[in-house]
Amino acid sequence: MMKLSKKTFKKDYIRKFIEIHGKELQEGTPQNKYEALGSLVKDYISEMWMNTNKNYNKTGEKQVYYFSAEFLLGRLLGNALLNLGIRDTCKEGLKELGINLEELENLEQDQGLGNGGLGRLAACFLDSMASLNIPGQGCGIRYKYGFFEQKIINGSQVEAPDNWLKNGNVWETRKPEKAEVVRFGGEVVTDVVDGNLTFTHINFEPVLAVPYDTPIVGYENEVVNTLRLWSAEPVSNEFDFSSFSRGDFLKAIEYKNSIEAISHVLYPDDSFYEGKILRLKQQYFFVSSGIQSIVRHYIKHGGDLRYFDERIAIHINDTHPTLAIPELMRLLVDEHGMNWDDAWRITTNTVSYTNHTILAEALEKWPIDMFRKLLPRIYMIVEEINKRFCADLWNKYDGQVEKISSMAIIGDGYVRMANLAVVGSHSVNGVAKLHTEILKKQEMKDFYYLYPRKFNNKTNGITHRRWLIKCNPGLASLLNETIGSSWIKHPIDMINFNKYVDNPGVLEKLREIKHENKVNLAKIIKESKDITVDPDSIFDVQVKRIHAYKRQTLNCLRVMNLYNELLEDPNKEIVPRTVIFGGKAAPGYMLAKNTIELINAVADKINNDPRVNDKLKVIFLENYRVSLAESIIPAADLSEQISTTTKEASGTSNMKFMMNGAVTIATLDGANVEIRDEVGDDNIIIFGMNEREVINYYKNGGYSSVNVCNQDPRLRRVTQDLINGYYCSDKEKFRAVYENLITYNDEFFVLKDFDSYLRAQDKVDQLFRNQNTWQKIAGINIAHSGIFSSDRTIEEYATGIWGSGFLYKNL
Ligand SMILES: *Cc1c(COP(=O)(O)O)cnc(C)c1O
Repeated sequence: MMKLSKKTFKKDYIRKFIEIHGKELQEGTPQNKYEALGSLVKDYISEMWMNTNKNYNKTGEKQVYYFSAEFLLGRLLGNALLNLGIRDTCKEGLKELGINLEELENLEQDQGLGNGGLGRLAACFLDSMASLNIPGQGCGIRYKYGFFEQKIINGSQVEAPDNWLKNGNVWETRKPEKAEVVRFGGEVVTDVVDGNLTFTHINFEPVLAVPYDTPIVGYENEVVNTLRLWSAEPVSNEFDFSSFSRGDFLKAIEYKNSIEAISHVLYPDDSFYEGKILRLKQQYFFVSSGIQSIVRHYIKHGGDLRYFDERIAIHINDTHPTLAIPELMRLLVDEHGMNWDDAWRITTNTVSYTNHTILAEALEKWPIDMFRKLLPRIYMIVEEINKRFCADLWNKYDGQVEKISSMAIIGDGYVRMANLAVVGSHSVNGVAKLHTEILKKQEMKDFYYLYPRKFNNKTNGITHRRWLIKCNPGLASLLNETIGSSWIKHPIDMINFNKYVDNPGVLEKLREIKHENKVNLAKIIKESKDITVDPDSIFDVQVKRIHAYKRQTLNCLRVMNLYNELLEDPNKEIVPRTVIFGGKAAPGYMLAKNTIELINAVADKINNDPRVNDKLKVIFLENYRVSLAESIIPAADLSEQISTTTKEASGTSNMKFMMNGAVTIATLDGANVEIRDEVGDDNIIIFGMNEREVINYYKNGGYSSVNVCNQDPRLRRVTQDLINGYYCSDKEKFRAVYENLITYNDEFFVLKDFDSYLRAQDKVDQLFRNQNTWQKIAGINIAHSGIFSSDRTIEEYATGIWGSGFLYKNL
């Protein structure tokens, strides 16, 4: 833990302010003050950062490199202060200078270089690796524009660019001296030199990859790991000069732009694959620069490539970084003269892969022509990997043509990234028990039979430092007062809170903390939407990407039905509800955008109907992102986790809500199953089809959404309300949602689960009426949430996959 007195801090801060702004503190804008604080904190971090790296180089301890196309970090200042152990000191010091720390923290732009769960998982993992003394570095892309900013205009989503770097970024350090060159296009010339086959890549287009390093501070352990993000630049300005001298200015600028386009913007697709060449370029760009720099660093510090896999672990987060496999082969074989078999053994022992989804539309596959043209040498290597793999398959499964061709890495005109990832790594993990079982039994059945020992489960987790200590200080204090503070280093100790869930004083305290968080969220809602919500109503929350499988539509139809019932029976006894939605739709995903329009139209009508207003309000909070999640989640009473069973690989917001004392209403999907197993059936509200029923429908058909609809008058009414002008004078407005449910037979069984969802919601009302019972359930959920800390997940990766982190384990 860092030592810092309030007096020293104040002196340092004032000096820093003057140094970077050249004026008195009193004359500074809030932004000036934030920048000075960020810059000072970065100074505080620097020495630990340097020492951590020195230490890693000296001990030669195994290094983990976590490759991910997305890192959804959110804000860094508050968590850096927390992990350094100086947040209280700084807060008080600033207060004496007339500055409110939280106000400065809120000025920081979210670092939103990810879409949702997958990118946020990578961010939680970095925090946990640093906090557990595991030498683990992140590797990704420094997108100039992150995930778009969502505005809701006239009820529809409008996308604006996320110019997150507009005020600079105090956390990153540009390292031009560590740049790498990545080669695109061109041809490969084969030759024989001294009896050996050689491959020379010619006429390629070189792109300079410049790393920007961000410190990842461990919790009170003086460890600072690194997130290295790569930015694309022209290799030199020579091209510019020659064009300029010919007067060809535009061409020079176009060239520069075409290079910089590689790291220009994050693709806003979640669980959806888009076969764009720029995306393939992005993937090879960061993977190639990352692998080159790892190998360069390894050799520079005396490493012997024959033992590379004993010193280095490379993890690929989903298939986006799969080209790490052929890129490492290329370096070992082409550049370092290793024979194929040794290189293959080392590569597969080094690389491990996490699968994140079984949605067919998310499977990455690249057209062969596109791939070969952009990456000619990498294509040859993938072909060779495929040739050898298929030869093995022929030996094992002679004559089973169908099986072999479906397992091949190249087939039907495509390079299949998941197949390459499975064949080229030593570990394949799913992200929750159910998901891993589905991978083994269904989606990757043939691979599981071929390589049973590669497959394993690592249930996702979330960092309790950001998602409890930082975002819910009231609850963190209550835990400290009751069970002591051991849970901070050992989150599993939260289980001790179980001893207090029958203690009326503690339950009352829980209720007060939740109420305070709700008042705070009500203020945010008032400020952003000018709608007054009642903090005594049930805050019923569904925040996540808008996607058909996540079934925001089910939630919305339930609200529409409740509205109908309240109008029919004004005396209907319900606990008042504030139903809160948030989430972004991919810009090209019309159904998801239509769903947002529907929710906003329903909200508009209900919120302006005085007949129901003291019982029901509907809020769509715009621009859902990490920092907003940190205000919403601690204020939730009810966590909506209602995806179609089998479709949500894990989910992580389910864990965040639980840790903050929300009660979950859920299908038995993803990690909801494990949450149920932890808390027991009495402390979670489960509804809907089970895995067997869903799989049976997908396999054998037999589902008719029209029949389900016709048998339930409530469903007939709410589906008709989509197209009869009830919520919008334009009757065609919600046509897409309607067609999806009725005409296209409701792929995600929204109508099928409607009745059981409504009964589950009735149960929520019943439970909430007895606050003692409700707070007890909340307490049990909090007590059992420690296992969902990403510290537990990372320990499992370290011991079960990476073979790292033994030397300095926190004891
Ligand atoms: C945790 C988180 C997610 C993932 O939410 P799911 O409900 O698990 O899909 C997405 N976006 C943000 C901003 C998050 O913090």
